[in-house]
Amino acid sequence: MPTIFERIIARELPATFVYEDDLCVAFQDLHPVADMHLLLVPKKAIPRLVDAKPEDQALLGHLLVKAGEIAAAQGYGEAFQVRIHNGAGAGQTVFHLHLHLLGGQQKRAETH
Ligand code: AMP
Repeated sequence: MPTIFERIIARELPATFVYEDDLCVAFQDLHPVADMHLLLVPKKAIPRLVDAKPEDQALLGHLLVKAGEIAAAQGYGEAFQVRIHNGAGAGQTVFHLHLHLLGGQQKRAETH
């Protein structure tokens, strides 16, 4: 079964995209908890961060570089957070690796 994020990447489900390249997409979180709450998602379906392999190293670096560029493009380059939930015990609900990009006023202490 494809995850929600695979279906968003395939344009089978709607999302408000703010960035896309060959390796990743970024779109608005459906339930934002901050003024900027984006999800940066690799097109490769890695379930959790801990499932990433040595061959994913360049992809993970790409995501971090893009996180900064996207946050800056959204006006939050000087102050933003990057958050990854790894595993259900850490609050992960969609098992397709993703980075939360958070900026501005946070609406709750937690992302859930
Ligand atoms: P996580 O808890 O790290 O797995 O985060 C999953 C995130 O995906 C949550 O912040 C949800 O609000 C968000 N989310 C779930 N479904 C959608 C969707 N269809 N479009 C955008 N964001 C979604």
